[in-house]
Amino acid sequence: MIMSNYKMAESNNRIIPTEDKIFGINQAAKKMAAEIGEDKVINATVGSLLDDNGNLVILSSVVEVLKGLNPNDYANYAPIAGTPDFAKAINRAAFGSYIPKAYTETVATPGGTGAIRNTIQNYSKRGDQVLTSDWYWGPYNTIAQEIERTIATFTLTDDQGKFNTVSFEIKVNELLSKQGSLVIILNTPAHNPTGYSLDLEDWNNVIRVIKDSVADGKKKLTLLVDVAYLDYAGDEEENRKFFPLLEGLPDNILVVIAYSLSKSYTMYGMRSGAMICMTGNKEIAEEFKTVCSFSARGTWSNCNRSAMATLSNIYSDDDLLAKVTNERRQYCEMLLRRGKAFQDAANEISLDTVPFDAGFFVTVRCENAEAVGLELQKEGIFIVPVGKGLRVSIASISEDKCRSLPPRILKAINKING
Ligand code: PLP
Repeated sequence: MIMSNYKMAESNNRIIPTEDKIFGINQAAKKMAAEIGEDKVINATVGSLLDDNGNLVILSSVVEVLKGLNPNDYANYAPIAGTPDFAKAINRAAFGSYIPKAYTETVATPGGTGAIRNTIQNYSKRGDQVLTSDWYWGPYNTIAQEIERTIATFTLTDDQGKFNTVSFEIKVNELLSKQGSLVIILNTPAHNPTGYSLDLEDWNNVIRVIKDSVADGKKKLTLLVDVAYLDYAGDEEENRKFFPLLEGLPDNILVVIAYSLSKSYTMYGMRSGAMICMTGNKEIAEEFKTVCSFSARGTWSNCNRSAMATLSNIYSDDDLLAKVTNERRQYCEMLLRRGKAFQDAANEISLDTVPFDAGFFVTVRCENAEAVGLELQKEGIFIVPVGKGLRVSIASISEDKCRSLPPRILKAINKING
């Protein structure tokens, strides 16, 4: 159901649903669990990492730091772009041991969401299309609509399960033939909702395509790399190996990294993150800081100072940083085991999943996803239909449940689709 018959509010060309689908399915799962018992229900709807008992994973090492903050750390305003210590800390959090050979500037944002919003606002025009893959995180569409843009998509993977460079190239060129500038959002590693990660070959293809597309210097392109799941995709160093490939691009290609503290530091509710630009041109980096700070001032003003102080404190103490990293690593391994359990069971019965590498979600391709989802609910299984498939949150269910799901999903697909 979508909003219609506006009374006082203006629609401003937005398509606004009247209910939150994921919230609705989650509520239905909880209701059934209360009626027939938790053990008979699999609630794979939640987009946060839960332990095997269904409790939110919270990094205790981060909580300790939070509890030790000074009143000034939470009572005072923060500078619009973030405190200088936060800027340093978040660069290390995002880039790890890699030190960019590029001009970088940082602007604090309320989570990765704010970074996505500010990038679209500042690097595309009203009415423009923003490009991302056909499977994508729904709020990209909400954010784009909210600031009068729309989303266009390319096909994420090809028949071999590799990044679909052909589809990507066609779409980039098509949009650049119509617009003076283009924002592209790539969510990797551990893409939501598929779990796909671009490998270095994919990245080289992406870079070749974007360089070629603006080689005549007449158009501008911004590549927004949404790394919301960067710290849950396996080896921390390995997953950051693509960063050096983003150096040395021409001035008319700007790279923006959207980094989020929500998952990496289990601070979902504290709304903290940053946008970090990479460019070979100092003036473009300075402009980034100015325009994105202006946008911040005009939307949320400054961001959560206590989250900034928490991250700064973690990065000022090597032992503390090691403690946080080790604690997260254990949960990351738990998540990877769940993903493997699901994928192995899916492979055994040839369940058609979008190529999965790591992350919070796996996506099963199927026709009539809504009907299959409802069929599964009869069996006490709650997963979210997304376009031409079903999004299974492996982040919110145990390894055993991950292993048990594929045959049950296949049974429901066969029942509905014959
Ligand atoms: N990007 C993707 C793909 C996400 O799934 C999320 C959170 O679920 C985010 C960005 C940003 O989240 P936050 O605004 O909480 O940092």
